[in-house]
Amino acid sequence: MSQPEPARTLFALSPAEAETAVVRLGGRAFHARIARREACARGLLDYAAMTSLPAELRARLAAELPLVSARETARRTARDGTVKLLLAFPDGRTVETVWIPSRKSGTGATLCVSTQVGCPVRCPFCASGKDGLVRNLEWPEIVEQYLFGRAVGALARSVVMGIGEPLLNYANLLRALEFVRGELGLGARKITVSTVGFPERLERAAADDPAFQLAISLHSPDDEQRWELVPAMRGVPVEDVLAAGDRWFERTGRELTYEYVLLGGTNDSPGHAARLAARLRGRRASVNLIPYNPVDEAGYARPDAETAERFRRVLVDAGVVATVRWSRGLESDAACGQLRIRAGK
Ligand code: SAH
Repeated sequence: MSQPEPARTLFALSPAEAETAVVRLGGRAFHARIARREACARGLLDYAAMTSLPAELRARLAAELPLVSARETARRTARDGTVKLLLAFPDGRTVETVWIPSRKSGTGATLCVSTQVGCPVRCPFCASGKDGLVRNLEWPEIVEQYLFGRAVGALARSVVMGIGEPLLNYANLLRALEFVRGELGLGARKITVSTVGFPERLERAAADDPAFQLAISLHSPDDEQRWELVPAMRGVPVEDVLAAGDRWFERTGRELTYEYVLLGGTNDSPGHAARLAARLRGRRASVNLIPYNPVDEAGYARPDAETAERFRRVLVDAGVVATVRWSRGLESDAACGQLRIRAGK
């Protein structure tokens, strides 16, 4: 796995380093602050549009210290307003980032960001891991997804639920989230990180009480089936994952969410629901049920609304909080599990 040289850009620097760099290019320290604010608060991604900076400095910055390294190489907008961006980094690698408008207009969007190019977990129902892992994203490459997302429109929340397994690129993720909480101003409760839940990594993470909400992708109450559906977790009992989730709650005081993709005829029977309920009863966690979104090669079935509702009822009747989440952006391949690292159809 080869990592690229980090590009020299304004947002690959800390705010203090950015000031020094801008001064070196003939500007003043506050010009660096203005440029960053224009990108974060107004969604400007081009110095030319930052008319509060002197024209000469704008030209100098554009030539010597670009704002970002990525290019937006494709954009698809779904009928529900969801916007999927394909971003290409200087080494030619790409990821997808999804801007999901709130159902209530004017309340800001949720941005779904990627942490890796490809994914080593290789869940058979997900497009993101089809080719395995290509490389980790560097923290500025995660930051840039937020800047491109902000350029689409205001952001109210973020989910780290795009391509990749966040706990396997954790240092870069944490560094990027510092920026998101600081300069972008999204609070810790507005950021959710979703993982397949490697117990040791989760426990190490819980120990520093990181500033985000946690979601764990579970997908089956049964060891053997979970190992098929989440191959990188083979050998790790479901109970160990749940115990790590319990520790997360004990250490952070924040409840977590378990995600469960509903695959028609595979893991959506009343028996699965009852066994899941038995596992989760009494735990400080809720469940998001995600009906499978079709992925060409995968060959799973999408359950109908009644099946999803029946599954939810079993959980709720057992005292487990559960919600069915129909994904947005489905018809433009921007929904959960449909993100990939090549230009889509
Ligand atoms: N790799 C992380 C982040 C992805 S989050 C994780 O697995 O948690 C996206 C959620 O969508 C995960 O729960 C994932 O399992 C789920 N998902 C993947 N493919 C899907 C599909 N085709 N339909 C619905 N959900 C899917």
